[in-house]
Amino acid sequence: MARLFQDRRSKIPVNQIVKDILDAEFYEDTRGELWCPCPFHNDRNPSFSININPSSLKYGLYHCFACGGGNIVNFTQQLKGFNTYEEAEEWIESTYLSNIDDEWDTVEILKRIDDSEPLRKTLKDPDLPHYEVSHPGNKHPWMYKQGLTDEAIEHFQITYDKDKEGIIFPHEVKKKIVGWQTRDLTGEKRAKYLNTLDFPKSSTLYHGDCECHNDSDYIIVVESPKTAAIMWGIGYNNVVATFGASINEEQMRLLWKYPNIFLWFDNDEAGAKATRAALNLLKDHCEVYIVPPVNVPKGDPADVPYEDWEYYLNKAQYYVHWRG
Ligand SMILES: [Zn+2]
Ligand SMILES: [Zn+2]
Repeated sequence: MARLFQDRRSKIPVNQIVKDILDAEFYEDTRGELWCPCPFHNDRNPSFSININPSSLKYGLYHCFACGGGNIVNFTQQLKGFNTYEEAEEWIESTYLSNIDDEWDTVEILKRIDDSEPLRKTLKDPDLPHYEVSHPGNKHPWMYKQGLTDEAIEHFQITYDKDKEGIIFPHEVKKKIVGWQTRDLTGEKRAKYLNTLDFPKSSTLYHGDCECHNDSDYIIVVESPKTAAIMWGIGYNNVVATFGASINEEQMRLLWKYPNIFLWFDNDEAGAKATRAALNLLKDHCEVYIVPPVNVPKGDPADVPYEDWEYYLNKAQYYVHWRG
């Protein structure tokens, strides 16, 4: 028999189960304890509490000042009238856990986010001069190898600069080019991507105000302009990029106008940190959906087969709807 509570404790939606089973007035304290009048004895004042903080060691454990304690399975067994502990486990499993695919577990994602390291420093090149794109409209095999379509290359005015031996990603704000990022193809530069001077990296979003997603009620947020352009080329027009994982409030404010936001940052530590930061800056203004860390080496959407994107976005919507 499954040992549900021991093995999958963090996956049990304790808060939901308690509220589904018990019709009572609840309140939650700052330690993640959910309080209500005790269902096991004749109680007027809330003397019963159960821990609903998944990262707490006491998650799923309840306690009553008069009756003592137990866990969510004991709770379910008694209040739903199951004869055995195992029957209660089975009911929880089939009612709440049968759709959960472990890889996508919310608790795991948030734990991963919490455990992640501080952001890595972003490279900057102060000496990078302004320069004009010498040959606009030049295509380069690298672009196609990355998955950029002709339409995307044109929409984003991506071009190859022969003198610099780099791919130029111009950045447009209100229909004006305000700078560009150069993807170095020589492999000899200090950073893969170099920005033009005064590039508004932290105050704007790539593809942030393009007409092509004007009337949509959602937006997909990714880290890199290249990824945004690839997604756009496959038909996901409602996509913006943050120029990396060091997101900030000014950028996130630009997203408040969208009712629904899908965060799809890279599956690395910086990406996890960015997810957490973005969530905090967005959750009071939008419905935020997180695409969980995708189980591929880097986890950038561009590393995932395009046919699977819809699957991942739907997964985000279904499992990881986060209300802070
Ligand atoms: Zn009691
Ligand atoms: Zn566009």
